[in-house]
Formats: sequence, C-alpha cells, structure tokens
Amino acid sequence: MAKAAQYRRVLLKISGEALMGDQEYGIDPKMVERIADDVAQVHALGVEICMVVGGGNIFRGMSGAASGIERATADYMGMLATVMNGLALQSACEHKGLHTRVVSAIPMQTVCEPYIRRRAIRHMEKGRVVIFVGGTGNPFFTTDTGAALRASEMGCDALLMGKQVDGVYDADPLKVADAKRFDRLTYMDVLAKDLRVMDHAAISLARENKIPILVFSINEHGAFAEVVAGQGRYTIVTE
Ligand code: UDP
Repeated sequence: MAKAAQYRRVLLKISGEALMGDQEYGIDPKMVERIADDVAQVHALGVEICMVVGGGNIFRGMSGAASGIERATADYMGMLATVMNGLALQSACEHKGLHTRVVSAIPMQTVCEPYIRRRAIRHMEKGRVVIFVGGTGNPFFTTDTGAALRASEMGCDALLMGKQVDGVYDADPLKVADAKRFDRLTYMDVLAKDLRVMDHAAISLARENKIPILVFSINEHGAFAEVVAGQGRYTIVTE
C-alpha cells in the first residue's frame, strides 16, 4: 500500500538495547543495517529525520556507579557509549545511500560535529539524517530526556520511540501474559500511572512542547514507515 507521511519532521529514539539484536552486549551489525533500512524507507516518504541513540548496550551510568565509579564519571562513560552507536548507525545509513551527520552534545571535533541547533535544523532541511549522540551532554540525565529535548529544539512534529514491544502496556508484556495494551494515552496518564514510556523528565518536556510520542516496535521491519503514515500498531501519547 502506498504510504503518505503524516509528519513533516520526526525524531526517532533508538535505545542501545535495540542495536544488540540477539546479543547480550554491544552492536549487532545486522540489526543496525535493518534499522538503517527503516530510516531509508521513511526518508523516501519525504520526511525530515533526526535520531537520538542510547548507549545501554555498551555502558550505563547506574551500573558503573554501582561498581564503584563516581556517578557523574560513569554517566560521561555512558554518553561516550552513545557516540559509538551513533557512528555505527551513520555507517549503516550511508550504506543505504542516505546523507547523514553525527552531532554530539559533547564536542568531539575530529569524530563528529558539535551540536549547534540551527546547523542541525539546516542539515535536515537539506535532506540529511541527523544522528544526535552524547544525550543531553549532562550527567544524571538519560537519552530519553535527550530525545525530548532535541525533538523540542528541532521543532519535530512527533517523537517516535522505537521499543522492543509494539506500544505501551500496564506491565511488561514480555513477562506478564495478560498485560493490557493502550492505543492512546495522555501525558498525564503516563505520569500518574508511572507507565514505562520514558522517564518523567522526558515526558514533561514533551508535554510542555506538545510533541506527540508514538511508541512502536523497532523489531518489526517497516514499522517505522507505517507509524509515520499513521498505520500499523503503536501507542500515541498526547494531551
Ligand atoms: N547519559 C547521561 N546523560 C544524558 C544521556 C545519557 O549521563 O543526557 C548516560 C547515562 O549514564 C546512561 C547512559 O548515558 O545510563 C546511556 O544512556 P541511556 O541509558 O539513556 O541509553 P538507552 O537506555 O537508551 O540505551
């Protein structure tokens, strides 16, 4: 079925976990190629795309802190992990013929571009896929908050959360057989019921800037394009 995009500019959040595929740790090149293919499909619909990538497949600040590293230092290590993931995604997207820029919240001039808001917007206007790394650039935050922040700064029409499952449930559907799935929620529902969509800081930021959050399964090939076209399975979080 021919698809027409419902959004002009979107931000796709990919967790580090999504890049692991079936592995226990690190980056599965097949999975990264597959995600790049999804991104190329959406780009072909004429949608401007930016991405925020997590780092949990390599390093999480909380685990580092639990093993004795100072929390802020461990968080910087987590942010560096997101840079590796972003570079892997860049390489895969370029294999698909896309033009890309990796843009880091932590300046790293010989590796990628530093974050300059207007420059990042210009890249998207020129059809480049912008891959944001380094989260917010601050310890004690998450890449989910980085995603809500960049979606707000970029003026995105939607924030798409590529998860392991096809929407928001009231319990983990991979563990609880009769977990209830929601088609539609409000930001306040998510906050009040403490549903696991994103952390509270991220939800609050999306709410303040009225950016709809669409939660879908990144494991389904082609789902990103379907969701952008208002089709397929996803949970939408709005006012
Ligand atoms: N992190 C941080 N500030 C940010 C974003 C990330 O300190 O703005 C660190 C934090 O330690 C986190 C790690 O980077 O555990 C990896 O990010 P995250 O856990 O959000 O990745 P994901 O769960 O999406 O893979």
